[in-house]
Amino acid sequence: MRRNRNAKILATLGPSTSTEEGIASLFEVGADVFRLNFSHGSHEDHKRRFDTIRGLEERFNRPVGILLDLQGPKLRLGEFKDGEIKLETGQKFDLDLSPELGGKSRAPLPHPEIFKSLEEGTELLLDDGKIRLKVLNCGDDFAKTEVITGGELSNHKGVNVPSAVLALSPLTDKDREDLRFGLDLGVDWVALSFVQRPEDIAEARKLIAGRAGVMAKLEKPAAMEHLEEIINLSDGIMVARGDLGVEVPPEEVPALQKRIVFSCRSAGKPVVVATQMLESMIHSPTPTRAEASDVATAIYDGADAVMLSAETAVGDYPVEAVTMMDRIIQKVERDRHYRKMMDGFRYDPESTAADAITAAARQVAHTISAAVIVTFSSTGSTTLRCARERPSVPLLSLTPRADTARKMTMAWGVHSVQTEDLKTFRDMVIKAIRVAKTEGFADVGDPLVITAGVPFGTPGATNILRIAWID
Ligand code: PGA
Ligand code: MN
Repeated sequence: MRRNRNAKILATLGPSTSTEEGIASLFEVGADVFRLNFSHGSHEDHKRRFDTIRGLEERFNRPVGILLDLQGPKLRLGEFKDGEIKLETGQKFDLDLSPELGGKSRAPLPHPEIFKSLEEGTELLLDDGKIRLKVLNCGDDFAKTEVITGGELSNHKGVNVPSAVLALSPLTDKDREDLRFGLDLGVDWVALSFVQRPEDIAEARKLIAGRAGVMAKLEKPAAMEHLEEIINLSDGIMVARGDLGVEVPPEEVPALQKRIVFSCRSAGKPVVVATQMLESMIHSPTPTRAEASDVATAIYDGADAVMLSAETAVGDYPVEAVTMMDRIIQKVERDRHYRKMMDGFRYDPESTAADAITAAARQVAHTISAAVIVTFSSTGSTTLRCARERPSVPLLSLTPRADTARKMTMAWGVHSVQTEDLKTFRDMVIKAIRVAKTEGFADVGDPLVITAGVPFGTPGATNILRIAWID
């Protein structure tokens, strides 16, 4: 089973998509990586989804990526008696530390640090800024507010206080517990929310200790001041436009998105564009033209992946949303303009053997119209350098490690297959040919380009470029 596109699709799981058949359908129509959002759901919920996804790998004989998204110091409301309420503009609404379930005129807000930094007139933004409250008066454990912009509100919706600086640690106690739980399960990627400083990543890296890829979610303006350093310390980046677009004015989001995507492409780190991509499909079977265009823009910019959040987690049309994303990506990638943009907007190789080989692999593959580039890579680092080249031929990544195969599901253009370690040079060519054929990338007579490192089994030793013909 192979995808007919380069960019990947990340789908968030939730109540709309938690049965085995639900998750299988999303995979079948195009989801490459599943996001377990630890802002919602219990450990049992996530474990059930995790086990279901691993079951799919066997059923479809394909690696599937799993991203654990830590809530981070995100401020969220508690719960409502009926799960949701409707706030009218102009009404009074109280927030406090009491754990009692909320109702029409009050909600629990279990964050003492918010109340300490509020004052009369401070604005609170709820649910990605859709609802605005203004503080009338407040104390250490409560705030009385007036609703400036009303709307529907439900359990655990986010709260932003753009004007206040809150003293928050990047990993909360809940995050540490969730992280331990997720790493024991064996997730492939961990996303860190509300990263502000390079030190935030360093701390998480120490805890994760190589057991999963570290993805920094960029959703705080402070992070943009250390962008290059944060990218260098991370294995991947998410443009988390939901919170980013609340923390900065919406008109600043597009330029930030482009700056992040291009910086990641230059560094060769997978970058995901996230949030509100097909937002209207939460309740509608088709997207708006603007949404289709937004997904397309991320693809034309060369992003590694695009993400669905509520569309697949709680939406009415999760399968349609993934199908639509898949169709938009395929359409863009078949546009001549797309190939021109990939070829015209490239980044110079760094002065390493791996970059010399992968840049040459792209050149050779284009020159001889190779059917596929095959990379032998144990950690996936050479595969990522090859993906950084954004070649016009497919990338087949062969690795002895299951975790590498799964991690690569996030990367642009990579189709991963787990194989045993190489023994001889002949073995390398035979294996590349066999897998290229069985996975449907090449046929008799087709040329393929192979990269590998000798001695075999030494990570980071890529030093071979080989052309082979399928016989
Ligand atoms: P979230 O992150 O869905 O966990 O808030 C993504 C975003 O903020 O865009
Ligand atoms: Mn967020």
